[in-house]
Amino acid sequence: MSRTRTYRCLNCLEHTVTREFDTSHLSVTCPNCESFERFVNEAVYEQFRAFEGSPPAELDWDRLDRTEKLVVAERLARSTKTIEDFTVVEGEATAEEGEATAGD
Ligand SMILES: [Zn+2]
Repeated sequence: MSRTRTYRCLNCLEHTVTREFDTSHLSVTCPNCESFERFVNEAVYEQFRAFEGSPPAELDWDRLDRTEKLVVAERLARSTKTIEDFTVVEGEATAEEGEATAGD
């Protein structure tokens, strides 16, 4: 099989590259932006676009930044997760570990 996957530059959203392997994203130098950028799988981008056009009722989509949106789109496009598996939380949870005390 010689099926190729399309990956889209996340910076300009215009340039695409094709590869013979299937992964969620890759990082290459975009000839359009002339910088090293992340390219996402077109299936992920399509999911992202679909939510941009019609945000899912289950998620507070507009509160997510683009990276977070893409993470959600990526999970949905590339796994068996469904929208119900996601919740929007306030900020990043930081695990505050107690100081380990050296015993005496
Ligand atoms: Zn680009």
